[in-house]
Amino acid sequence: MASTIGVLSLQGDVAEHCRSIEALGRRAVQIRYARQLDSVDGLIIPGGESTTIAKLTADNPDAIFDRIRDFIDADKPVYGTCMGSIFLAKEIEGSAQGRLAAMDIRVRRNAFGPQRFSFETTLHIPVLGDEPMNAIFIRGPVILSAGEGVDVMARVDANIGRLGKTAGSLPDEAALYDSYIVMARQNNLLVSSFHPELTEDYRVHNYFIQMVEGTAPKRALAQTQAENEVQPKEASAVPNSLALASV
Ligand code: GLN
Repeated sequence: MASTIGVLSLQGDVAEHCRSIEALGRRAVQIRYARQLDSVDGLIIPGGESTTIAKLTADNPDAIFDRIRDFIDADKPVYGTCMGSIFLAKEIEGSAQGRLAAMDIRVRRNAFGPQRFSFETTLHIPVLGDEPMNAIFIRGPVILSAGEGVDVMARVDANIGRLGKTAGSLPDEAALYDSYIVMARQNNLLVSSFHPELTEDYRVHNYFIQMVEGTAPKRALAQTQAENEVQPKEASAVPNSLALASV
């Protein structure tokens, strides 16, 4: 039976996620209250600002976040886009902000720098087929490491945002990495650092619908635990700050 997908409607690209779900012939429902979760088969948590939603977890008369945790514990699929991936993460680098702490990933917020260094790039996502995907990153996070049960589905070259990040500012530890994880799955949880709802390529939403309807491939890629870590570069490959500052 065609599934119904909820889109958490507290902030972010709610209409765009609904449009993507409807383009795939499924029903989308905007979710604002805990009681509405009973009527959906899967839930999308859009992008936005994770510190804002973190405040709502502490000060909210509606038990929506407790119900989302129950939803996850009941093995129902949840897809977090950008802020949604931060909110689902067990660990946020350098922050104890409120979150669902459901997925075994460690994330870094704003990994490519401030809003003006948002960018688009193409990603190769093997589980979605050979055609590259246009991916839009808006002050997005990255996954620095993922636990054993997590399938890494896509990575981005760490240099892509680093040019923007370091031009005119000091290089930081991000300069030490070759690539970042930007899409991953752990059982019923899917996250992406980028925003597929802003394009008309519906493959990520389609994959999520397959998770909801039980037709998605269980493991995205064959991999080892080592591949779930972001590998530091060889010392000699790290460019010096002067070279970066002059780009
Ligand atoms: N920078 C935001 C945060 O850390 C996420 C941005 C987004 O969802 N587009 O919460």
